[in-house]
Amino acid sequence: MFFDVAAAVLAASIAHLVVALALDPSWTILPGLLLGWVVIDFCSGLVHMLLDFVPMPARMRMDLLYFARDRHSPEYRRLREEILGSVGPFWRIAFNFKYHHPRPNALGRRNLRELCADTLFFAALPWSLTLNVVVAVSPPPAWVIAAGVSTVIGALFIQYFHATLHRREPPAFVAAMRRLGLLMTPEAHQRHHDVQDNSFAIIAGWTNPPLDRIFRALVAAGLCRAENLEPPRSEATRHLATVRQRSIAMDGDD
Ligand SMILES: [Zn+2]
Ligand SMILES: [Zn+2]
Repeated sequence: MFFDVAAAVLAASIAHLVVALALDPSWTILPGLLLGWVVIDFCSGLVHMLLDFVPMPARMRMDLLYFARDRHSPEYRRLREEILGSVGPFWRIAFNFKYHHPRPNALGRRNLRELCADTLFFAALPWSLTLNVVVAVSPPPAWVIAAGVSTVIGALFIQYFHATLHRREPPAFVAAMRRLGLLMTPEAHQRHHDVQDNSFAIIAGWTNPPLDRIFRALVAAGLCRAENLEPPRSEATRHLATVRQRSIAMDGDD
């Protein structure tokens, strides 16, 4: 219900921006769209880096979910609802990013609504409404509005695009965008799943070279530490092995 209303408001909001562009057509629209795609690709990598390496507070007991061996039992589902339902969106999303590394295929099985809910409510919609206000109060040049439109669309679909990297067959439009270089390939994303010290961008991958340099600087400054890729262990999980890395696009039972 909330999702449907928010999606309808976002559609109207984007339509307002597109009308503003149509009323002021300019050759700068295409470069603006591409610039926006660069910006949102960079943001996807920066946010991904933060969520991978932010230390999880031990009191949240995320280790009980992360290291759980049986993830199909009613007890696990109850615990998952109890823990993830109480930590708020930021920690829920951070947990999902960490959980994704050893179990990449679980993401590929989620539906569009699950993949876009958080990015709709907390990124695309507020950002698009902000652009509507800016355009109404003091219209910027067409290339700025165009860049804004592609950042809104990229922000909305970040996790959807990421999920298609973990499916055997991408939708036709995703395959077409990959051929144009607008979306990255599963092979390029696999570098991040092999070792979580590179290739953080999850849209086009264009900005991975500067993001890799930023990551190395953060490691050197002691801000990104490998142990924070997993939730801290409690007594209940101290003896359990680190969960094993799986290959991309493999069918698993997770
Ligand atoms: Zn990651
Ligand atoms: Zn992935």
